[in-house]
Amino acid sequence: MAKHPWRYDHLTWPELRAAIARDPQPVVCVPIGAVEDHGAHMSLSTDNDILEGVLAACGERAEGDMLVVPTIPFGLDEHHMDFPGTIAVEIETTLAYLAQVATSVARHGFHHILIVNGHGSNQSICDLAARKVVLATGMICAATTVNAAVNPALVADVLDAERRGGPGSVGHACEYETAMMLHIDPARVDMSLAERDISQLKLKYFNWDHPEPSAYAWQDWWSRFSRVGVCGDASAATAEFGRRMFDLTVERFVELVREFRTIPIRERVDHH
Ligand SMILES: [Zn+2]
Repeated sequence: MAKHPWRYDHLTWPELRAAIARDPQPVVCVPIGAVEDHGAHMSLSTDNDILEGVLAACGERAEGDMLVVPTIPFGLDEHHMDFPGTIAVEIETTLAYLAQVATSVARHGFHHILIVNGHGSNQSICDLAARKVVLATGMICAATTVNAAVNPALVADVLDAERRGGPGSVGHACEYETAMMLHIDPARVDMSLAERDISQLKLKYFNWDHPEPSAYAWQDWWSRFSRVGVCGDASAATAEFGRRMFDLTVERFVELVREFRTIPIRERVDHH
C-alpha cells in the first residue's frame, strides 16, 4: 500500500514532529461518518466512502497544507436501526470519542483542526466536539463537512442550479449522494434499484430540501417517513453530476482549509 503524505497516520513520529514545526502548519482534518442504510441501491458505507474519496483528493491537491486522520466510521444512528446493518453509537459516547481524538491532535501542538462530518445526524455532536477542543486546549477547532447532503453551504450555488430532481431531491441516499458514489465507486451503486422517495414533510417552516434552509430542525425515526432509506431522488443521479460536485467540492474545500488556517489565535482577556 502506498504511503500518502497527507495521511496523518502514514507519517512517522519524527515526520509528525516536523509537520507540527512547519510554518504555516498543516490543518488536521478529523473525519467522522456512519454505517447505515443508503437505500436498496447503495452500500452502508456510503457516508464513509464519500468522506474518504473527497478527503483523499483534497489531500493530494493541498500539497502539504492538510493532514487527514483515519475516519471514525460510526456515529449517532439509533434512528436508523429499523434498517438492517446500521451501527448506532450513543450521543455521549460519540461526543466523548470524537472530542478525545481531536483533542489528542491539539495536544501535540497542531493549532488548526477541522472536524469533517460525513453524516447529517452527527452535526450537532461535531459542533460540540469542536467547542470542547477549543475550551480544553485554546486551539482553533471547527466542524465542517464535504458532503452537501449534510450541509450544502460549500457548494449550494451549483448544487441547486444543476441538480435534475427538483425540490426535495437532496436529503439522504439522494440525487447528490448517489451521484457522488457513481463518480467515486460506481461498483457500489445499482441504479436499477435507485428510487425517488420524497416522503419527508414540506411545511411552511419545516423542510428537508437541503439547499433551502429550514426554520426548525426535527429528526424523526427514519422508518416513519422513508420506505427504503432514501430521502430525495436517487433516480435522478448521474455520474456526470457526481464528477461536477466532487471536483467543485475538492477545489473549494482546499480553499476553505487554506482560509481556515489564517484564523489567528488571539489572546483571552480576563475582565474580572
Ligand atoms: Zn449518507
